[in-house]
Amino acid sequence: METKLKSILWAVWAFVFPSALFAAYTLWPVKISGNEWTIAAFLVFMCIVSIFPIIVNETPVFFAQGVSISVFLLFGPFVEMILMQAALTVLLLKLRIGKREIYRYPTNSLMFLIVSAAGAAVYYAIGGTHDHEALTLPFILKVIAYSFTICLVNHFFLQHVIRGIFYKKKEKFFSRDFLWEIFTTLMFLPVGILLYLLYLDLGPQALFFVGIPFVGISFILLLLSQSQRLNTYLQQASEIGHQLTERLEVKEVVEVYLDKLTSMIKADYAYIIDVISDNELKVIRKLDNGKIVKHAKESISVHQGVSGLVYATKKSVLYKKRDHWAKLERTLLPESIESVIAVPIVRNQKVVGIVILASNKKRFYDRAQLMITDLLTAYLGVAIENAKSYEETKKQSERCPLTGLYNYRYMEKLLEYEYTELVQLKGQKLSLILLDIDHFKKVNDTYGHQAGNEILISLAERLTRFIGDRGTVARYGGEEFVILLPNMDKPACFATAEGIRQSIANRPFIVEQSIQHHGKRQPVSITASIGYATAPEDAEGPLDLIRHADRAMYIGAKQAGRNRVAEYVK
Ligand code: GH3
Ligand code: MG
Ligand code: MG
Repeated sequence: METKLKSILWAVWAFVFPSALFAAYTLWPVKISGNEWTIAAFLVFMCIVSIFPIIVNETPVFFAQGVSISVFLLFGPFVEMILMQAALTVLLLKLRIGKREIYRYPTNSLMFLIVSAAGAAVYYAIGGTHDHEALTLPFILKVIAYSFTICLVNHFFLQHVIRGIFYKKKEKFFSRDFLWEIFTTLMFLPVGILLYLLYLDLGPQALFFVGIPFVGISFILLLLSQSQRLNTYLQQASEIGHQLTERLEVKEVVEVYLDKLTSMIKADYAYIIDVISDNELKVIRKLDNGKIVKHAKESISVHQGVSGLVYATKKSVLYKKRDHWAKLERTLLPESIESVIAVPIVRNQKVVGIVILASNKKRFYDRAQLMITDLLTAYLGVAIENAKSYEETKKQSERCPLTGLYNYRYMEKLLEYEYTELVQLKGQKLSLILLDIDHFKKVNDTYGHQAGNEILISLAERLTRFIGDRGTVARYGGEEFVILLPNMDKPACFATAEGIRQSIANRPFIVEQSIQHHGKRQPVSITASIGYATAPEDAEGPLDLIRHADRAMYIGAKQAGRNRVAEYVK
């Protein structure tokens, strides 16, 4: 939220809060004198029930609202407002509102003041009093009107003012939360009335008879909602697990994992760390202040920090506040971090990576979240291993093992792809260069097959460096190379081919395993014949381009005397 909006909020709160309490005190009935101790007991009771909030769709359901009905009926709106504010403070403390979210205090405080005032206004407007009425139908109807005003105003504020302005979330008025709120209002209503009537009969003892089961039920509901939360987590985790194993490449796996994990378990910072060697760790992807950083690459020593500890012990850790880990960490986690979850990625009893989730709030993570992170990280380990072996297989099937260049199989696929692109984007060009070393048989005969291989390796390097990111170099066969150049027209292709020819002819290749001088470095000069063709003018299909460049090479360059560049002519 913007700082300006926050300042306005605090200013409005500082003005409205005392004014509203003052107005309630002077305009509406106040029944304090003689009831001080009872009110204190109600206060304690409301604070206790506020310790067990249930979170529905990021909004806590607030049991104190049930008790507040009887507080309102017994002591008037002023006392009810003060007690609700106290209960709200306990609730926000329990929800661990950090410094960044402290603005939730004035927002909620104002909301409860408005809600209390609206309830009281409706109650008085339809003739409600605080005269210890008996349980008659008109009385019950008035209390129902009071409760539902509170429910509606509360909902209206949550949906349209708070979520709309602060979270920029738009939702339907009749959402699931609304039904849930109506349901809790219906549940609280009889409890409120019961507490009221029992208090009139028994005095403060009533708090025990209603209070103990009420706190008990709140507690049980809390446990229930926690187990439901775990259930939801488990369901999501298994879905994410499936999505992870569907990904084929390591990069994708890591991407999906971090994205899904942090949308399930909120974090201000998150890191996926790769184990590079026995003493180096490297961040490969991170969430920085809520934003994904794709090309993270900080290096860290394995002897440092939370990550170092997890690497050494192979065990997950959960820290609830900064004091618990501050002495460990100097490297990765920013100053603002309090809570931390760190989990090792283990394969074959070895730590191959580490996942860290961190929040600016204290006590933000619990055991359930640690467990889920652990589970998802196990999926991640498997998915990464699968992806790595997929990438390895793919590399083997696409590359020539001697030079590391792409092979003809890959080149033909790429050519087909680029050709389709060309057909779709009319006006573009696609050039192809085919290069064959001159008299390579003789080179082999003179210096040995091993030396020939060295030349092929150096030539591959020379070609890749020369082409850079302008195109793709592949070893097409024995001593033949193909270079595919998207977006390159004929004149540019000629210049490139000529550049290549010169870079081969002008500088000898150094071989170390020549059969002439064994073990000594020896320069070997070679030349190459080059042919090229350009689509769309020279070719009607992708394979035409190769065929025609080959023909140009053979007829225009080899037959014309070698060490030259020839263009395809029809
Ligand atoms: P030109 O192309 O100029 O007509 O003569 P050339 O001697 O190069 O003839 P050709 O292209 O027909 O012969 C290719 C030779 O390249 C045959 C083979 O000995 C050699 N060769 C092919 N693959 C390799 C390889 O992987 N390593 C080595 N050392 N030599 C190879
Ligand atoms: Mg050849
Ligand atoms: Mg040759």
